[in-house]
Amino acid sequence: MASIVFVPRETVGEEPRVAASPETVKKMKSLGLDVIVEAGAGLLSRIPDGEFEKLGARIGSLADAASADIVLKVRRPTGDEMRGYKSGAIVIATMDPYGNDAAIADMASAGLTAFAMELMPRITRAQSMDVLSSQANLAGYQAVIDAAEVFDRAMPMMMTAAGTVPAAKVFVMGAGVAGLQAIATARRLGAVVSATDVRPAAKEQVASLGAKFIAVEDEEFKAAETAAGYAKPMSAEYQAKQAALVAEHIAKQDIVITTALIPGRPAPQLVTRDMLKSMKPGSVAVDLAVERGGNIEGAVAGSVADVEGVRVIGHLNVAGRIRFGIGSLRQEPRDLPGDDDLEGDEGTGAEARRRTGQGHDADAWRRGRASEFYREGGLRWQTTA
Ligand code: NAD
Repeated sequence: MASIVFVPRETVGEEPRVAASPETVKKMKSLGLDVIVEAGAGLLSRIPDGEFEKLGARIGSLADAASADIVLKVRRPTGDEMRGYKSGAIVIATMDPYGNDAAIADMASAGLTAFAMELMPRITRAQSMDVLSSQANLAGYQAVIDAAEVFDRAMPMMMTAAGTVPAAKVFVMGAGVAGLQAIATARRLGAVVSATDVRPAAKEQVASLGAKFIAVEDEEFKAAETAAGYAKPMSAEYQAKQAALVAEHIAKQDIVITTALIPGRPAPQLVTRDMLKSMKPGSVAVDLAVERGGNIEGAVAGSVADVEGVRVIGHLNVAGRIRFGIGSLRQEPRDLPGDDDLEGDEGTGAEARRRTGQGHDADAWRRGRASEFYREGGLRWQTTA
C-alpha cells in the first residue's frame, strides 16, 4: 500500500506558507505516494485546492492526519496537532529546536520521527532543501521593502528641476544570506549601502555588491568564523570596540537593517537606544533577528515600535510576508531551466539572469559547494574552490 503524505493547513499565528506546491505534489505522486492536502491549505499562498487536485492530490480534512505516514509542515506541530497524528508518523518541518526542548520531547513521546529542515547539512547534495538560505534570502529582500514602505522619503537620489534629494543611506548589520540580499535589494533601489559582519569572509562579498564594509578588523575578527562558516560569539572587548565604531556610523544613516544571528544562541544586541537616539528624525530600523531575541534594543516582536524617535520594524515571519508555497522553493535549484528555456519577457534561464542580473546560476549549484556571491544589482551563486 502506498505511503500517505498529509499536508495540513498551518495553524500557528498567521503563517501564510504551505509545505507543498502543485509541483512537489506531482513529484511525490511520481514517487508512488498518496498525497492528501487539507482543504484551504494553500489559500494564503495563493494556491487554490484545485491546483493541488489537478496534479493528483486528494483534498481532505484535518481528520486525514490520523492516517498519514508522513506529515509535511512549515512549522513544528502544536500539541493539539500532534494528538491527531498516528504514532510512528514522520513529521518534516522547520522545528525551531533551539530553546524548545520540551516541545521536541513531546514529539518524541508521541512516537513521532521528526526531521528538522533547518538542520539539513548545507552541502551540495542538500542545497535544494536548504530552507535557511531560501527563507533568509526572501526575508532580506522583504526587510528592505518593509523599510522603504515606512521610510517616508525616496531611496534613490532624485534630481528635480528644483534641486537634488540625496540617496537614502542604508546600513546592514550581519552579511549572511539575508544581509547580502538586503544589500543587493537596497542597492537596486538606489540607496547608498554599507554593511558590517564579524566574519572576515563577508568583507569581500559586501564589497562585491558595491557596499562599503565597516568593521573592527583586529586579530579576533580574522579568526571569527567557524569551520562551518558561521559567526562565533565575540569577546566583550571586541563587542565594545565594534559598538563604538557602529555608534559613530549609525548616527549618519537613514535606515538600519539587522540580521545578525549565531546558531543556537540568542541574537547579539548590536543597536542600543542611544544609537537610535543619534539617528536623524524619520529614520527607520528593521530587526530581522527579533524572533531570536533581537539585535535592536526596544524592538517589539510583531509590531512597528517608536524607539527614541526611530520607527523600529519587528515583523514576525518576514519570509512568510512573501507568498510562496515553501515546497516550490525547496525544489527550485535543481529545476532551473537551461539557457534555451526562456519564457516571457525576461525569460528564466542564463540569458535572463544576464539581462536582469538576478537569479541563481544553476550550473554553480550543480557543480559544487555554492556560496553566495552577489553582483551589483543582483544575486548570483558561485562555487567556492
Ligand atoms: P546566520 O543567519 O547564522 O547569521 C547572519 C549573519 O550575522 C552572519 O553573516 C553572521 O556572521 C552575522 N553576525 C553574527 N554575529 C554578528 C555580530 N556581532 N555583528 C555583525 N554580524 C554578526 O548566517 P547565514 O546567513 O545562515 O550564513 C552563514 C554562512 O553560511 C555564510 O557564510 C553563508 O554565506 C554561508 N552559507 C553557505 C551555503 C552553501 O555553501 N551552500 C548556504 C547558505 C549559507
